[in-house]
Amino acid sequence: MSAGAPEQLELSGLPRPLFPATPSRLAAFDCPRRYRMTYVDRPPPPKGPPWAHNTVGAAVHVALARWWQLPPEQRTPWAGRQLVRRHWQLDGFADAEQAAAWREQAGQWVSDYVTDEQRRHPDAPEPRGVERTVATRTDVLAISGRVDRIDERDGELVIVDYKTGRAPLTTDDARGSLALALYALAAQRTLRQPCHRVELHHLRSGSVAAFEHTEASLSQQVGRAEQTAIDIVAALDTVAGGADPAEVFEPNPGPSCSWCDFRRACPEGQAVSQRKDSWAGLGELPAEPA
Ligand code: SF4
Repeated sequence: MSAGAPEQLELSGLPRPLFPATPSRLAAFDCPRRYRMTYVDRPPPPKGPPWAHNTVGAAVHVALARWWQLPPEQRTPWAGRQLVRRHWQLDGFADAEQAAAWREQAGQWVSDYVTDEQRRHPDAPEPRGVERTVATRTDVLAISGRVDRIDERDGELVIVDYKTGRAPLTTDDARGSLALALYALAAQRTLRQPCHRVELHHLRSGSVAAFEHTEASLSQQVGRAEQTAIDIVAALDTVAGGADPAEVFEPNPGPSCSWCDFRRACPEGQAVSQRKDSWAGLGELPAEPA
């Protein structure tokens, strides 16, 4: 399963600990400075204020997880909407009125989604996992992650990941997702059942973007993750050898800096991006909210 070059994770002939690879940790290294501020600097620099779109996403995820934990006869669209209300938070919104409008909108998404799911898979067995932690290892990585839902269809496991962002998702998004591939690999090892299909369920549009992995495409993604881990360990070793962390973990500024939690501590990121209000990621409510 290794992509090779594990020798780079050895020191004086002694094996190195496996790299603790969660999808979010690997993704943070897209900008090495962001990785440093998240996982290396202690204490870390202060983050910006919470984002309202993350608040919406968190409430939807919690509501769906709790919905699946209800007895089957209680899993109604109404219950989904109520669970959003129960788990709602106010972080990041402009004011209480905006928060209330989005709470109702998110409740409608969940209500519509569970209706659609029951139509799509009327005879589906119970999910194999809801917010299930899965884990496995390669020669380089100790992979772990928490999957929103793991279904079982036609004898195989299916990874389901809920999304609440503004843009609808495509097959390319499902195919290219490192997180989904690592979840599939870890799920099949943890639950001892084949797992090749990964799905992004987009709550706003009610659409599903899916991809069927092969063993080759899973190995390709693992190789990508291993190379990222090797690069991170090399950077950490360079710092341990006395190099300046600010020079080793270089910034990778770009448009996404607008949404970086550490933008206020990063002059390069500020130089290339606009500051966003904490509710800017919500987008527009439909003309006639539900
Ligand atoms: S603001 Fe941009 S360059 Fe700076 S740490 Fe964040 S992502 Fe990296």
